[in-house]
Amino acid sequence: MNNELDWAHLSFGYMPTDYNVRCWYRNGKWGEIEVSSSDTVNIHMAATALHYGQEIFEGLKAFRGKDGKIRVFRLEENGARLRRSAEGIMMAPVPEELFREMVLKVVKLNERFIPPYGSGASLYIRPLEIGMSAQVGVKPSTEFMFMILVTPVGPYFKEGFKPTNICIMREFDRVAPKGTGQWKVGGNYAASILAGERAHSLGYSAVLYLDPKEKKYLDECGPANFFAIKDGKYITPASESILPSVTNKSLMQLAEDMGIEVERRHITVDELADITEAAACGTAAVASPVGEIDDLDTGKKYIVSKNGEAGPVTTALYNKLRAIQYGEEEDVHGWNTIVE
Ligand SMILES: *Cc1c(COP(=O)(O)O)cnc(C)c1O
Repeated sequence: MNNELDWAHLSFGYMPTDYNVRCWYRNGKWGEIEVSSSDTVNIHMAATALHYGQEIFEGLKAFRGKDGKIRVFRLEENGARLRRSAEGIMMAPVPEELFREMVLKVVKLNERFIPPYGSGASLYIRPLEIGMSAQVGVKPSTEFMFMILVTPVGPYFKEGFKPTNICIMREFDRVAPKGTGQWKVGGNYAASILAGERAHSLGYSAVLYLDPKEKKYLDECGPANFFAIKDGKYITPASESILPSVTNKSLMQLAEDMGIEVERRHITVDELADITEAAACGTAAVASPVGEIDDLDTGKKYIVSKNGEAGPVTTALYNKLRAIQYGEEEDVHGWNTIVE
């Protein structure tokens, strides 16, 4: 264990760790796993990743549990999503077994960076795949590099589990109607930086994007999915242009387990008037409760939290998921992989 680190105050930034793992795809096949202690990559200046955005990534976490064991949350889901993203932008899919082996290896190699139980911190795992072939014409690479870095991250809610405000801005879309929104592609993030910074400068934590075709239905919250509680039901957008979040999928399951009805469907902006809770959900925060949703185009303000606190359903779901990740509650769905 690394005792020098102030785990509870770590930010969501990059802190160097001991090792990362890499694997090349060349001549139509994946090579051997390489362990590296360098945090730089040697890349051809004409690589497709640099010019045409042939880059995909993932995000998952490892936790040190109450029993001292290390748990990685739902790595099979992230591996499957990475393969779908690869197919979406014509990259070589990383086989399930290779993904699993590399995740477990990089976590184990950096064991001393996994924050202690009780600190609220965790080890963030960031797999990424990039197109490496030199190509000036717009064509897919034939060579790829898949790598995984890890870095410890502090608790998301340093000032407590409190709601923040989000906004709707129709002048920006992050993805196109039949575009790459359902895949975890770096370019989607490039397309969202301007809107995200605009929202931050206006005091909002995120943009709640609308569907890019009709601008009528809710899509997602920048880098996180969106859910709300309406008439006691968990509602979350069904859309072709959002990323299927592993966290959202898990929260839907937990809601069902708690006897809460779940609806994945189109949600209109007007429905925001009738919701009693809302949150952005993703690996980084699990669920980040929403206080107010301001529609900057119509001037309407949807007050979700009247007392400045997270609602009871959001709180219960958040606590339940975290308890499973930290091994405090039984993992009935088999979501954790224990790192031996
Ligand atoms: C990664 C991501 C999410 C959250 O997915 P999780 O699997 O829950 O971390 C949501 N939306 C977008 C656009 C993302 O890239």
